Amino acid sequence: MARAHAPISSVRARAYRIPTDAPEADGTLEWDATTMVVVHVEAAGATGLGYTYADAAAAGIVRGTLAPILAGEDAFAIAGLWDAMRRQVRNMGEPGIAACAISAVDVALWDLKARLLDIPLHRLFGARRARVPIYGSGGFLSYDDDRLAAQLAGWVEREGCARVKMKIGADPARERARMRVARAAICDGAALMIDANGALEPRRALAIAAIADGEGVDWFEEPVTSDDPEGLALVRAQAPGAVEIAAGEYGYNPHAFRRLLETRAVDVLQIDATRALGITGFLAAAELAAAFAIPVSAHTAPALHGAPAAAAANLRHVEWFHDHARIEAMLLDGAPVPTGGAIAPNEAPGHGLTFKEKEAERYAT
Ligand SMILES: [Mg+2]
Repeated sequence: MARAHAPISSVRARAYRIPTDAPEADGTLEWDATTMVVVHVEAAGATGLGYTYADAAAAGIVRGTLAPILAGEDAFAIAGLWDAMRRQVRNMGEPGIAACAISAVDVALWDLKARLLDIPLHRLFGARRARVPIYGSGGFLSYDDDRLAAQLAGWVEREGCARVKMKIGADPARERARMRVARAAICDGAALMIDANGALEPRRALAIAAIADGEGVDWFEEPVTSDDPEGLALVRAQAPGAVEIAAGEYGYNPHAFRRLLETRAVDVLQIDATRALGITGFLAAAELAAAFAIPVSAHTAPALHGAPAAAAANLRHVEWFHDHARIEAMLLDGAPVPTGGAIAPNEAPGHGLTFKEKEAERYAT
């Protein structure tokens, strides 16, 4: 590596477990708390912030596996550090917890670089747009109809969202009724999206897609598991034409996105910078999707996605996920406030976010 200009002097990682505001469930999981792993990287008197929503074990990987190879290296050489971190986790397996750990560090390195250069992160990337559309996302299966309706309507009325997304399960009759509750709540003011979190088999997914089409739904996320790209492709090929198929939230590296794209599994590729090897991985996946003429959508962590989404090719929108929007408003200074159904990347140096360590202390694990 070339002579360091900003040698990394410190890499810290801590995990915080934040209870949800109500029990939550999707088609394949139930939860009552969200764990946020927060990383700070220091060099030349500046500090970069990164984070991932992952098991607390990711903090251990940052401290024990990644920090030692980062110490003293040039903070500006992000591509080389990204390669080195990926090599370092080879024997533990990259997809999953290791990729989340690398993601948090990579985000911190980009923030650090922009702060050292004293420019907003989206200017460092070369932004394609000044504002990024968001869609409201929640509508958990654990909600009763009133809560479902109030949450979805709130995003349309308060944040100005043009689209909202709800979770669905495997019971066609129940899901038809829930979609009707949602549709009535948002009237014709917004598009309705559904997410099965991989709960269905392809034939059942097609039956639900037909129901959804009748209820005016135009987005069906992970109808079947993303581990079965051919199953997704089958649903995509046979679903009603107005219903787009989306997946990608479990893509942890470029190979996973290539598989979804090569099998023609998705109409829209979802990418999550907190899992897919950080902002470096996010932008690489967006370029890969562009080569397949497939648009992209950022998955969860809206505060973190503002700058990279402003720069990404073929961006549709950023997910305004209930849990994360709530946590980021609580624990990050500089968290975005939507207006007119969109957010703007921060104009402060870096991504403009600062973690409120004192407020977060009571959630530390
Ligand atoms: Mg999803």
